[in-house]
Amino acid sequence: MGKIAVIGGGAAGFFAALSAKEAGKTHQVVIFEKSSKVLSKVKVSGGGRCNVTNACADIGELSKHYPRGERFLKKAFHEFNTTHTIQWFEERGVPLKTYPDNCIFPVANDSRVVIDCFLHESTRLGVEIRYSSGIDTIQSVDGKFQLNGPNVDEVVDRVIVTIGGQPKLTGLNWLANLGHTIIDPVPSLFTFNMPNETIRELMGTVVEETTVKIEGTKLMGKGPLLITHWGMSGPAILQLSAWGARILKEKGYEYKALVNWLDACNPEELAILLTETKGSQAEKKVYNANPFPLSNRLWKYLLDRAGINDSIKWKELGPKQQNRLVNTLLNDSYEVIGKTTFKEEFVTAGGVDLAEIDHQSMESKIRKGIYFAGEVMDIDGITGGFNFQAAWTTGYIAGKNAGISLD
Ligand SMILES: Cc1cc2nc3c(=O)[nH]c(=O)nc-3n(C[C@H](O)[C@H](O)[C@H](O)COP(=O)(O)OP(=O)(O)OC[C@H]3O[C@@H](n4cnc5c(N)ncnc54)[C@H](O)[C@@H]3O)c2cc1C
Repeated sequence: MGKIAVIGGGAAGFFAALSAKEAGKTHQVVIFEKSSKVLSKVKVSGGGRCNVTNACADIGELSKHYPRGERFLKKAFHEFNTTHTIQWFEERGVPLKTYPDNCIFPVANDSRVVIDCFLHESTRLGVEIRYSSGIDTIQSVDGKFQLNGPNVDEVVDRVIVTIGGQPKLTGLNWLANLGHTIIDPVPSLFTFNMPNETIRELMGTVVEETTVKIEGTKLMGKGPLLITHWGMSGPAILQLSAWGARILKEKGYEYKALVNWLDACNPEELAILLTETKGSQAEKKVYNANPFPLSNRLWKYLLDRAGINDSIKWKELGPKQQNRLVNTLLNDSYEVIGKTTFKEEFVTAGGVDLAEIDHQSMESKIRKGIYFAGEVMDIDGITGGFNFQAAWTTGYIAGKNAGISLD
């Protein structure tokens, strides 16, 4: 019988602890949690409903949702992926429901059922939880590990580190002291502030099919865009913030966002559509005859930006005006100054360098016997249940291998 310490009582920590216990039932498994509560993020996740995973079952496709960790996770998903997650929860009395956008939530629509499931499973399997037990040093002593923290002085056989994303590099110094390389943490998943842009007056407007690029970069986000009272949000923006987490930080969160309001339409198709509209709507005012899937408010706003006055008829639209309109519809530039957290949901890009972790076991290649899982690693996904999926996958593998290694 051996003793396994799981450092951090979050999503990855619980999954790792349960998996370790299932792999080696006689081992003692202890979760050391810094705060007085466990699973705090699970509780508030998905607006209190917990988006546990995504319906994406194809491993290649699934791994493409991770700006950091794609290749590492692609291999790990062969062992535990979204199909396993669904089965895991349903077998333990948490039925799940898939929504049209592929996000999967508990049928109960309440994150509490996920927390109750983890706590119930921990009691059933005999996982011990120690609250207010933060760890700040790990030392190797005669093939074992000495853990210390303000309330902890413990020797264990295996350690699984699941402390989540840390906003500052200093929060990971104690792992760097083990010899691990730490990739500088930066925020991911944020919305764009546009304090100088009048488009904010159209707050609440949603455009379903857009592409947004960042001027001077290759960054691109696709999908619905939401205009907010501070700037822009929605899947297209959140994707950009995730894929561009590091570049956008380097820019001090000041850059130009170039919006294509008609993603479904390329310039040639748009030219044909405008010519047709000039024929079919010739006598109508451009302001009043909107041929695009854009709200009339946004249509008028964009016409203003293109300098097309409200008295002009479609038949009167000259080549220069038409060019300006095409440019506004397909390449509309907005000044971004700063960022805002999306519904308090954020993840951290950066953390323990994946090159130093074995994807098959989640064991450190630098210090044998130490394992990692969850956001503490340089892994992060876009919104849609992908971050929890990474926590379940890596937690499962880390726990299982830590458990087996002691048999
Ligand atoms: C508001 C919000 C909503 C979210 N919603 C979703 C969602 O619906 N779907 C989704 O997929 N993702 C969501 N995410 C992201 C998701 O919550 C995280 O990716 C996930 O929780 C990471 O799991 P983790 O176990 O690695 O870290 P965490 O859940 O952050 O857990 C880490 C734990 O370790 C503890 N800890 C830290 N340092 C120490 C230490 N030194 N010693 C001991 N304990 C320590 C912490 O107190 C914490 O309990 C959301 C994030 C936020 C902030």
